[in-house]
Formats: sequence, C-alpha cells, structure tokens
Amino acid sequence: MTPAARRDALRALLRTAELDALLVTDLVNVRYLSGFTGSNAALLVPADGERGTRLATDGRYTTQAAAEVPDVPVLIERACARALVADAGAAGIRRLGFESGHLTVDAHAALLEVARDNGELELRRAPGLVQRLRAVKDETEIEALRTACAAADAALADLIAAGGLRPGRTEREVAADLEQRMRQHGADGPAFDTIVAAGANSAIPHHQPTDAVLAEGDLVKMDFGALRGGYHSDMTRTVVLGRPTDWQRELYELVAAAQAAGRAALGVGVEVASVDAAARDVITEAGRGAEFSHGLGHGVGLEIHEAPALSATGAGTLASGMAVTVEPGVYLAGRGGVRIEDTLVVRPDGAELLTLTGKELLAL
Ligand code: ZN
Ligand code: ZN
Repeated sequence: MTPAARRDALRALLRTAELDALLVTDLVNVRYLSGFTGSNAALLVPADGERGTRLATDGRYTTQAAAEVPDVPVLIERACARALVADAGAAGIRRLGFESGHLTVDAHAALLEVARDNGELELRRAPGLVQRLRAVKDETEIEALRTACAAADAALADLIAAGGLRPGRTEREVAADLEQRMRQHGADGPAFDTIVAAGANSAIPHHQPTDAVLAEGDLVKMDFGALRGGYHSDMTRTVVLGRPTDWQRELYELVAAAQAAGRAALGVGVEVASVDAAARDVITEAGRGAEFSHGLGHGVGLEIHEAPALSATGAGTLASGMAVTVEPGVYLAGRGGVRIEDTLVVRPDGAELLTLTGKELLAL
C-alpha cells in the first residue's frame, strides 16, 4: 500500500471522527503516512482530499524529504507542528485533530497559541487513529517482518552451531554475539535491547544482560529481534545448558503448551482477550497463574510494541493481516523462568508463523 493509499484510509477515519484534518506528530505515523524517515517532522492530512496535505520538516532534511516524499508539498520550518497548525488555519480548517497520546503538554500549549491566532481553529484530541490503521499490515509490510524474523532465526541458529551458548560466557557476551550475527544476516540492528538471562536471572521477565556467567544446568532465556527497513521482529527462546532437570522440563512443557494454545486461538474476528485466556488458562490450571505476570503478546511492526495488545484487559478483535507476538512465560523467583515467543500474522484460516526456530526444549 502506498503512503497515498494509507492517507486515503485515514481520511475515512477522520470523517467518522468528524475532524476536518489530522495533525500527525508521532514520527512513526509520519513515516507510515508519507515515507519520510527524518527525526523532525509533522504531517497535515485533511479529511476532504489530498489537496492541502503538507509535510513539514527542517532544513537538514530538504533533500531527503524531496526524495522520500515526492507526492506531498514540503514546508521547511523548524517548528513543524506549529507551522502546520498555522497552515491549517489559513486553509480554513476548523476541527483539527491532534495525536493526544503523543504530544507533550508543552507542545500542546504552543499549538493552542497558534490556534488562538486563527480564530476558528479548534484543536481536538484524536488518539490512536493511525495506530488503528497500522495494526493491519499489507503484504509488503509482512514481507519486511518476515525478513526481519528470518535474520533473528538465522542468528540464533548460527550462535548455537558455533557453540556460542556454553558455560563460561557472560550474558552480555551472548547478547552482543546475537546482535552481531543478526547484522551479518541483514539486520540494520537489534529491534530492541537483547535480553539474555541465565539461571535465576531467567525468572526476571525483562532482565538486562549482565556479567553473570552462564553455568551448567542453567535455563538461558533469550528475547531478541532484528530491525530491518523499519520493521521489528520479536522472538524468545529458552534453552538448558546440559541435561534438563525434571522441574525445568515440566516448566518448559507447560509454557510450550500454553504458547501452542495461544497460537491456535489466533483467528479473524477473535477477541484479543480470549487469545490471552486460551494460553493463560493452561498455566492457571497447572497452578502457575500467578507466575505468568504479563500479557500474552502485542502487535509488532514499525514499533516493537504496537496495537493490538493481546492481554486480559485488551479490547477489540483480530483482523486478517495483524502481526502479533504470542509469548507466555512462567517465572519461578530465585530458580528460573521460561518464556517462548513467536511473531505471527493473523490470516483468514488461522495464523502464519514468521519466526521459524523450533520450540522443542534444546539441551546444549
Ligand atoms: Zn520479545
Ligand atoms: Zn514481545
């Protein structure tokens, strides 16, 4: 889908929300709707047609904006959002939506001043409109996600083949090794700070790698992803160094069963909360509900965490083309934890797996 087609889809939402235009200040949304990847920009999208659509950015990006956004007039102005509000006022726009989930209080105050100078212009909160569009990916975006997932899969396979998961290495070394191997497989960089958590640390859901040394008998949990062309992959695998003990094997099998139930629950029209429940029930029935301390998953795309949230409190249903993670975990404080995570795309007949690394318990 071209940026112009996305702006067209946004216009339908603007009309439903009774807005004359949307001021887009979230840079990820600016990128989605225009193709512009610079670090300072705003976009004005009127509801009544392409005429009046404007991108604002500053002088550092004159050449880049012309190349990336050939189909929208570009305003070169350091205070991008203010310039576009003035522009909207001059164009006779009255109900101007703004991304209230993104704009700071100070930035909002500055925009109110500009609006006051344009008597009829009214700023209206309009959170999450572009995020709603972004939740459903087109095939080009899914291909980008697939490539990012493949880089992460290949990096882990290389790491294991090279004996990179062994007693004596530190969590930090393994994390750096994984990130380097993702780059070798085409990643622009890691999608987020790689998590490597060994032994008791594996019971900390978002543990940051330390100089802790991997030891024989440890569970080693790795949560990592590749960034490629703006799209993020997200995957977690947990392995055992040496022979797994009974409790480790039991824990792993429980989480694997919950993860499989979560994946199987994905489908068009399914409530997000019921996907969470499908996985959570497996863990709760085993008496471990309190030790699964986070939501089941999240949307993934131009951001590592985006709509929809797959959680007990999440609202809404899944649509074809949504890219989501399914990542249950059970964490036994002081002993160790297991999380298994895949990135998948919701399809009319279920879900397509994008992270293809196997999920049987690996004893290394
Ligand atoms: Zn993850
Ligand atoms: Zn995740």
